[in-house]
Amino acid sequence: MTQFDLVVRAARAITPAGERARSIGVQGGRITAVEPMQARLDADLIVETGPDEVLLPGLVDTHVHVNEPGRTQWEGFETATLAAAAGGITTILDMPLNSIPATVDVCALQVKKDAAAGKCHVDVGFWGGAVPGNEDQLRDLHDAGVFGFKCFLLPSGVEEFPHLSASELEHHLQVLREFDALMIVHAEDGATIEHAPSPSGGAYEAFLRSRPRAAENVAIAQLIEAARSFRARVHLVHLSSSDAVAMLRSARSEGVRITVETCPHYLSFAAETILDGATEFKCCPPIREADNREALWSALSSGVIDCVVSDHSPCVAELKRLDVGDFGLAWGGIASVQIALPAIWTQARARGHSLVDVAAWMAQGPARIAGLRRKGTVEVGYDADFCVLAPEETFTVDAVKLQHRNPITPYAGQRLHGVVRSTWLRGRRIQAGEPCGQFLTRGES
Ligand SMILES: [Zn+2]
Repeated sequence: MTQFDLVVRAARAITPAGERARSIGVQGGRITAVEPMQARLDADLIVETGPDEVLLPGLVDTHVHVNEPGRTQWEGFETATLAAAAGGITTILDMPLNSIPATVDVCALQVKKDAAAGKCHVDVGFWGGAVPGNEDQLRDLHDAGVFGFKCFLLPSGVEEFPHLSASELEHHLQVLREFDALMIVHAEDGATIEHAPSPSGGAYEAFLRSRPRAAENVAIAQLIEAARSFRARVHLVHLSSSDAVAMLRSARSEGVRITVETCPHYLSFAAETILDGATEFKCCPPIREADNREALWSALSSGVIDCVVSDHSPCVAELKRLDVGDFGLAWGGIASVQIALPAIWTQARARGHSLVDVAAWMAQGPARIAGLRRKGTVEVGYDADFCVLAPEETFTVDAVKLQHRNPITPYAGQRLHGVVRSTWLRGRRIQAGEPCGQFLTRGES
């Protein structure tokens, strides 16, 4: 009889076939058996989930700004990965910007790996950056294992990560086409925003008018046409404007290779209820109106939006300018990696969705888009990454108790469903102070 390292017995396990009662056998950090729950699998350690618990695949968050090195006071690998683990996430992909140096060449990638070494409580992979003039670095970064390349179509907010013009985007896409690498894109149009009213002051409504839906719509239309022309593989990050759903749907039906993510904040909050001066809600593109939120939920249900990832992008408290509450001055970015799962589950269950849907959006979907071949699913051959969730237990978000470095989040004070009881990485329960995360390389993980 096979002796497993670990067997997890779960009356409710989220598998690709749906929710099932399963016994899951783990050897060498991989899932090697998924059997009916009554199967007698023998193991060194047998764990049985509680009557109020559900076993999910460890979540995959492909949009996290860790900011280390360079802006480590904003966030760092230790705190970001502890927060991820506390939120049921077992894999993060780190964005190439806000750290210094930005990950725009192999040397910078190595600097980042050196900074992260020994600090990670979850598995970590890296996106490269596509910036003007680094075309000849893309192939080397690809070969070094980045999962794709991030670019901006308007100023990114940090000077060391300049944006691509329309012609530079086309040129970069042509280069990436040679090795079929993925380009992930922040799509807002700078000219549209220049012509929009200024965001200064405390009124959320003024900030929203300064980043109109039109800015996203124009840039997404450009991106679709560039992807079509160059037969490129592109991924749209943090979709907020629901106006763009129709053109994304039609582009996809025509075979344009574009995938789409949105974020928990666009699916949770509504502009109408954001208080003036509440700059913890500032992000770009912005959180829009309630009708926009409901249209994003429809797009997620119908599959035009592929996945939900956090876009965890914290900064030091002073830069949020809560002292003056000015949306023009505040840094844009929402800290939420630890809250993403309960935030989405709270909204999803109220709309009749199941945890099977949530796992598809937050584990399987992002893993598929990033090309993580052993992550995001409870299935034989995959890494034994699990999240044990008590879906009906509620809690109130206390920003100070969250694990990320700076205790600011727009979810503070919210009552949410879904308490993460434990998180397992390659067959081991994640414990604070025992960082056992590994670096992930495209194609190998
Ligand atoms: Zn981001």
